[in-house]
Amino acid sequence: MSNFTILVVDDTLTNIELLSSILEDVPYDVRVATSGEAALRSLEVKLPDLILLDIMMPGLDGFQTCEQIKSNPRTRNIPVIFLSAKDRIEDKIKAFEVGGIDYIVKPFHAKEVLVRVHTHLSIYQLQYELQEKIRLIDDNIITSETTLEGIITKVSQALCDISGYTKEEFIGQSHQILRHPDMPHELYEELWSTIQSGQTWEGEIKNLAKNKEHYWVKATISPKRDANGVITGYRSFRQVITDHKRVQELSITDGLTHLYNRRYFNEVLPKEIKRSLRQEEILSFLMLDVDHFKRYNDTYGHQAGDAVLEQIGRALQTQFKRREDFVFRLGGEEFGAIYTTLNAHDSQKIAQELCARIEALKIPHQANDVSAFVTASIGVVILDGTDPNASNADEAKLYKQADQALYRAKENGRNQVSFQ
Ligand SMILES: [Mg+2]
Repeated sequence: MSNFTILVVDDTLTNIELLSSILEDVPYDVRVATSGEAALRSLEVKLPDLILLDIMMPGLDGFQTCEQIKSNPRTRNIPVIFLSAKDRIEDKIKAFEVGGIDYIVKPFHAKEVLVRVHTHLSIYQLQYELQEKIRLIDDNIITSETTLEGIITKVSQALCDISGYTKEEFIGQSHQILRHPDMPHELYEELWSTIQSGQTWEGEIKNLAKNKEHYWVKATISPKRDANGVITGYRSFRQVITDHKRVQELSITDGLTHLYNRRYFNEVLPKEIKRSLRQEEILSFLMLDVDHFKRYNDTYGHQAGDAVLEQIGRALQTQFKRREDFVFRLGGEEFGAIYTTLNAHDSQKIAQELCARIEALKIPHQANDVSAFVTASIGVVILDGTDPNASNADEAKLYKQADQALYRAKENGRNQVSFQ
């Protein structure tokens, strides 16, 4: 590491010579200027690490020179130590007022000058490193701080970069502005109750950027405490996990319809059965098959067939838009839905609505022998979680029953729902 550079400014040559010899022994690199004007010109060429500045000089005096140094953003942070024969308290005060950090009275002692120079260089260096680290954190770590009420008081540049909002747009708002509609309010309730009880909450959150795109973060949110341990607000650290989530989404999503795929269905069905038994809920599993789809493809081509599957996928999503519902493309022209209702009657009503909804899409299908349009047959099996006899239900049995119901709907003339 190179030596620190000290700029010595004094109009008296003997002072310059003496200071130079003291400082060069350390060794520091010493540059000299014999007037305030010369000092300012020297700063334009190269910045020193510290300035020793005489007060009484012809032309610009030390105070005026210091004021100019401190008013220039480029030189403002360089520490200035005054050196003067003036020993009046007013002069010392003035020296600090114009931005000096220390004051040495002439005639000076070599050791005192060195100790003060060394001290201020260390502080300056530490401050610089601290600022660098703060900037590094600000640029790279997604953090924010809020009041107890959740009002944002601080955000890092990294949070601005990922969200598209400026610091000014964040301050005074709540984190609601990042809230994605896909995130259930239960998650936020759990988050708040955790941090309000003084604990740290950790979890994955889908956030909405200003441009309406989304990104996933793994968030750690913890209470911020004052010196007495009293919670004064909350602090969050977030790590972007969008790529990881995208891979996860791809592996459980059907590429054509963007519904969940069969693999995910195999995961969800047993879990939902257990959950409905535990919570004593009415769970329905619906299987849907497009009527005479092979004939449709033969008549209109596979591309048109794919478009039909996409439309049916959207019809399912419209029908089952509650968070707790699941819709799947089980393969080919076969779809599935898992949903809960208050009673069996509601489940049947929903299935009938879906059946009617598909015919109402009015997609012409001249080879369909039950309608002029594309239709679907639906089989539904209802698992009554409140029934003690249901406790031996499993996914294989449920799947078979739904499949049988679907078969009956086909047998009975298609474009209808059959219940098990
Ligand atoms: Mg002088």
